[in-house]
Amino acid sequence: MKLIDIGINVTNRRFSKDLPQVINRATQAGVEQMVITGTSIHGSKRAAEIAGKYPGILYSTAGVHPHYAQDCNNETIATLEKLAQKEHVVAIGECGLDYNRDFSPRPLQNKWFAAQIELACKLQLPLFLHEREAHDEFINILRDYQQNLPKTVVHCFTGTEKELEHYIEMGYYIGITGWISDVRRGKHLWKIVKKIPENRLMVETDSPFLLPHNMPSRPKNRRNEPSFLPYVVKSLARSLQKSPEEVAELTTNTAKEFFAI
Ligand SMILES: [Zn+2]
Repeated sequence: MKLIDIGINVTNRRFSKDLPQVINRATQAGVEQMVITGTSIHGSKRAAEIAGKYPGILYSTAGVHPHYAQDCNNETIATLEKLAQKEHVVAIGECGLDYNRDFSPRPLQNKWFAAQIELACKLQLPLFLHEREAHDEFINILRDYQQNLPKTVVHCFTGTEKELEHYIEMGYYIGITGWISDVRRGKHLWKIVKKIPENRLMVETDSPFLLPHNMPSRPKNRRNEPSFLPYVVKSLARSLQKSPEEVAELTTNTAKEFFAI
């Protein structure tokens, strides 16, 4: 099984001690390529730096997560643009809206989300999006750019059926995490993933977060890592009534094309 993990947060300090081993375990498990999520200016620089050390295996995104919208300033977009010139920086994001935690004031979240969409349109680089409990405003902002929007993925989708239908209608791709293996929280997701067009589905661990629930034994430290992506695929395959191999092939082809990797 060849897989691509489209969202790993290996700039997280939980990977500071053993990153080479983590990447090695992932490739051993068939996860041949991974995209490191950039979530702040500092984080995006770090992500690009790490990706640069693993050519052909690691890639990264450049963006500011809505949690950090209040740290943005008038140099932010220019810095992201400069980072995006690097060959292994393959998308703008993660950016979007998070009205669940509201770590940054909503007007600032909206402002810097729009600014990053604009940058992705200008560069015609794929967009890697985050949305939590902000669906309507999220769509509203995106709609202004829809005409010129590059390929767009809503990563770690956990929303409702209606929201999913809306994203599909808008032409977006959907990223599925281990959330789907959570029989309690992921129950609704399990039922609706069938609605995603086969060629717009991708998989991700969002490690170190969202440890899959369907592992035979879960690590004591509860840290998720990219080598656990096959469990996400297994769970997704069951809900789609396909074989894991089939899901692997579909999602890998889609990710290759989406990120041009
Ligand atoms: Zn996210």
